[in-house]
Amino acid sequence: MNKIRVKSPRLRLDANSYLELHRQVLERDGWRCQVCGSMQRLQVHHLKFRSRSGGDEEQNLITLCTECHERVHRKASGCNVQL
Ligand SMILES: [Zn+2]
Ligand SMILES: [Zn+2]
Repeated sequence: MNKIRVKSPRLRLDANSYLELHRQVLERDGWRCQVCGSMQRLQVHHLKFRSRSGGDEEQNLITLCTECHERVHRKASGCNVQL
């Protein structure tokens, strides 16, 4: 049975384990942006390209608020993940 056919290569985990992974990262980082310490509008950023060595592992993920996240992406194009 082909229950999921995802064309986008950036989806490697199913939605539930992805949410669970995000929650683990947020908990590890204390629900704070790791740049400015904000506890609002948090997102999870991938430190490395997922297509290369960076994968969906906790060590490759960091909690950032939307502002710091945008700043990181403007500076370095190391993350191709749309959050
Ligand atoms: Zn921040
Ligand atoms: Zn990012």
